[in-house]
Amino acid sequence: MTEMEQEDQEALWIVPFGVIRGDYLDKIAADMAREIPMTYKILPPRSIPRQAYDASRKKYNANIILDQMKEMEAPTSVLGITEYDIFSPKGDYVFSETDMVLGVAILSFLRFRQEFYGLKPDDYRFYQRSLSETVHVVGHLFGHRHCSDPYCVMYNTPTLVDLDRKGHKFCFRCKENKSL
Ligand SMILES: [Zn+2]
Ligand SMILES: [Zn+2]
Repeated sequence: MTEMEQEDQEALWIVPFGVIRGDYLDKIAADMAREIPMTYKILPPRSIPRQAYDASRKKYNANIILDQMKEMEAPTSVLGITEYDIFSPKGDYVFSETDMVLGVAILSFLRFRQEFYGLKPDDYRFYQRSLSETVHVVGHLFGHRHCSDPYCVMYNTPTLVDLDRKGHKFCFRCKENKSL
């Protein structure tokens, strides 16, 4: 098998957009793959598309980033991760945006940092939030829809309060789902 063909075997590409602070991305990916067993590959970082920047909001348009990711024509699902602030038609800011049909998603870790809100940094919380959202988004990429159990990782959590409560595990029902 050539190296090229081996790459095609991966189920997920993870693409950092811009600098991801710290060295936790490897750990998050490994912890994610414990919840959703799969092979994945972390690609070298690329710069965030300039045309996605909205000067009036001072944020990046998640849908324009997703459009660029579709152009990568990856043989797998693609998860973009960034520390820039992103928005979508869903809201003035979003933690993530997913196109389940085309298998691409972008997620921002920026708002998981306590210091974003002027609070003392909290590595544990930051890690848990980032992991929960990563598992949630990859869950969507692999066919999971939102779950009504507020403690399930597939529960829709647009706010930190909900995100902090739910953790990063699938509920029994979602776990039984054939797509896992
Ligand atoms: Zn969701
Ligand atoms: Zn569930």
